[in-house]
Amino acid sequence: MINSVNGPIHAGDLGFTLMHEHVMVCAGGLYRSYPDLLGQNREERAIAALKDAKAAGIDTFVDATTFDLGRDPELLRRVSAASGVHIVNVTGWWLDVPRFIRNVSPKQMAREFVRDIEEGFRGTDVKAGVLKCAADFEGVTPELEIMARAVARAHNETGVPIMVHSYPTGQVARRQIAIFKEEGVDLERVKIDHSNDTTDTEYLKWILDQGCFLGLDRYPGHLVSPHMRTVTMKALIDAGYAERLCPAHDCICLHILNERADGTLPEEHAMALRNPDGFLYMHRQVIPDLRRMGVGDDTIDTLFVDNPKRFFTGA
Ligand SMILES: [Zn+2]
Repeated sequence: MINSVNGPIHAGDLGFTLMHEHVMVCAGGLYRSYPDLLGQNREERAIAALKDAKAAGIDTFVDATTFDLGRDPELLRRVSAASGVHIVNVTGWWLDVPRFIRNVSPKQMAREFVRDIEEGFRGTDVKAGVLKCAADFEGVTPELEIMARAVARAHNETGVPIMVHSYPTGQVARRQIAIFKEEGVDLERVKIDHSNDTTDTEYLKWILDQGCFLGLDRYPGHLVSPHMRTVTMKALIDAGYAERLCPAHDCICLHILNERADGTLPEEHAMALRNPDGFLYMHRQVIPDLRRMGVGDDTIDTLFVDNPKRFFTGA
């Protein structure tokens, strides 16, 4: 069973799954304290976007918003119930680490993450279904290493899989994977995300050969063109790695909206303007591109249905 925000679901209920998306990205506690920064009709906008996703055939998405990215479990629960899209939410930590963390031990932090998985986020009975840790262009800083080790230990205790925000340009996953190896993590339950921000297939094959899944989860993205992302995916499929690739968008419904000089708020964040297809970009752009390259329906099912199932169950 997998913890969705509306209770446990079977792996067979996942269906067509996007493995890295967001209902909202802001900052810890912001949705409760300063919600107007996210614009008006917040919940309605998120529900509308997910209803469109459901109508296009998207059954489930993994919401990668940690505490420091502003997770609001009750919001996720309502958006999931109203749209019909299963949402599996993460615990763990992204890059915004508060100063106190340098004095907290991995063991202490792991205990908190295990509680999010087994008992639910505090004040709710919404349980986390995935663990997440992160490092970016600065590499694995001492604070982020505490979080990575805490996530590894929470995984070892609960069996819940790990998604990893990484920075392929700096080959940061080499260090992240080394930490997981030291902690005794089963690398077949780890997904290294944002991996399609590079076209360096040698580096990507090295990650895959460690046993990890690859999150090809930036579409349309900006460091690499969308088509080159798909060409890279096709090269990895042809090299025999289809069973460990997870395409997604890293798309966000609700952002902080910056007021214009005249005091009005834009309807959409600049990032949303770059991708008017939103969560449907995969169906409208990427899957047709894969088909034109000769990728068949079986492989499409492997990418979006079978791989998520195996990531969650380890089977
Ligand atoms: Zn993300």
